[in-house]
Amino acid sequence: MRLVGIPRCKVPHEEAGKLIARAWNLFIDVDGAGGRQICPLPHAQLENIRIDREEVKKWDNYSCWDRYQEIKDQLTIQESGLLLSHLLLISGGEVNLKNSGLWDMIRSHALCNHEFSDFEDIWFMYKLKEGQSNMARRIFDEAAECGLEYSFNTHVSTIQQLPSDFVQVLTRDGQCFTGRKLICTAPLNTLKSLKFNPPLSALRQEAVEIGHINYMTKIHAVVEGSGMVSWNGACYPNALLYAYGDGILPSGDTHLVAFGADERRHFVPEHSPEKIIQAFENLHPMDVKKLVFHNWNNDSYSQAGPCFWPPGFMTKYQNELQSRHGSIFFASADWAHGWRAFIDGALEQGFLNARDVLEELRQEDRDNAATKSSL
Ligand SMILES: Cc1cc2nc3c(=O)[nH]c(=O)nc-3n(C[C@H](O)[C@H](O)[C@H](O)COP(=O)(O)OP(=O)(O)OC[C@H]3O[C@@H](n4cnc5c(N)ncnc54)[C@H](O)[C@@H]3O)c2cc1C
Repeated sequence: MRLVGIPRCKVPHEEAGKLIARAWNLFIDVDGAGGRQICPLPHAQLENIRIDREEVKKWDNYSCWDRYQEIKDQLTIQESGLLLSHLLLISGGEVNLKNSGLWDMIRSHALCNHEFSDFEDIWFMYKLKEGQSNMARRIFDEAAECGLEYSFNTHVSTIQQLPSDFVQVLTRDGQCFTGRKLICTAPLNTLKSLKFNPPLSALRQEAVEIGHINYMTKIHAVVEGSGMVSWNGACYPNALLYAYGDGILPSGDTHLVAFGADERRHFVPEHSPEKIIQAFENLHPMDVKKLVFHNWNNDSYSQAGPCFWPPGFMTKYQNELQSRHGSIFFASADWAHGWRAFIDGALEQGFLNARDVLEELRQEDRDNAATKSSL
């Protein structure tokens, strides 16, 4: 660990786990029940009749910085540094934590059974055996077998609803696709580059304009030898706040994964690889042989990392973002009920919207058939 206010030190995993657990549990305990009262069912944050919406709103309006101010006097310097780096690692927000909403921390904690000890198992432990690309491939193959027609590398620029209730998608290269319904899966921070006709509601436009705040960095490194495979390191402040050994490569070298918060003002990884190496070395002395990363923040099809909402966003915009706009439905992990910013959230929203569309199409078909037979 290398944390502000104390010299670099080595701490056994178990002890580091206890330090961060104590700090996190204090941070999250806004209701005296470890979040169980204010967010008992993370998939029903607003619809739970047992919860007072005003109380949810109160905590939703808190930033992580506000909450940290309330508990910081109860923390040691080590606990404080670990907590701050951990919060930033999750939110990917600005380093002062003022644009990281507290609510997404409360929701995340609830998704981990309200137990900090379950975080690692639920968030990090398990991986898809054949990787995410393979999962995407299998979903795609199944859809193609069911008759999916598709067009890759096709930039959508405009979505418009016709007076007939049909929807048209216009692409940058001049193609036009027409359908009875449309499910838009563009992520929150990309919606502002799409034109909607008629325009989106004022409230949704406001949400889109604000967007989410996770502009994290995630960098994979190959380091010499196998010595760091069971190492975890935290460094705060630093361009990379946290890293861990993620296995030995066939070459015998170690694969590390590192995360940083929103450092866009001083750190664009692809422009300054030497800063990446320095950030890794700040975490621990090491011999970096190779770096692999993608900058999601300036990729025009994501325009940020995984979604994390600013203070007040959930109570104000969640329902609106999930709602339809005429024949246009919106399905993104970025406004999922539960696993927002996860593949599970994308599946949730995909399923819910597909179900609504199918039900509506079937009903319209039944109505049309009934009209024809009565003629
Ligand atoms: C670095 C990183 C690590 C992550 N790690 C995990 C993890 O370990 N586990 C996990 O569950 N989740 C993880 N996530 C989050 C997960 O990837 C997302 O939540 C999930 O992919 C969202 O799915 P989606 O279908 O809602 O959106 P996306 O997967 O973002 O799909 C949206 C699609 O819309 C396309 N698009 C956008 N604009 C346009 C346009 N104008 N025209 C045409 N197409 C457009 C994009 O190209 C993209 O293909 C991670 C995300 C990041 C960035």
